[in-house]
Amino acid sequence: MGRAKKVGSAGRYGARFGVTIRKRIVEIESQAKRKHLCPSCQSRAVKRVSVGIWRCRRCGHTFAGGAVLPTTKIGDVARRSASGALSSAKAKQEKS
Ligand SMILES: [Zn+2]
Repeated sequence: MGRAKKVGSAGRYGARFGVTIRKRIVEIESQAKRKHLCPSCQSRAVKRVSVGIWRCRRCGHTFAGGAVLPTTKIGDVARRSASGALSSAKAKQEKS
């Protein structure tokens, strides 16, 4: 029996691209392939369908997110400012 290589998901690249880059690929891919928390049903069943597309296996909720993680820091900021703009627009409407 041959010795098992400890390269993980970057094994498909063989000896190419250098160790440092391959290790980075393993790190990112292991993050992407992990099950993530569903924003709809809160269960850890969200898997990546494609780059930036995530689907919950429990409730079927499909949503757009980051390429590697379902939520990104910049996405959080965008969400916060979007909801802030909405609520301030509502407040303006109520005043007039
Ligand atoms: Zn769900």
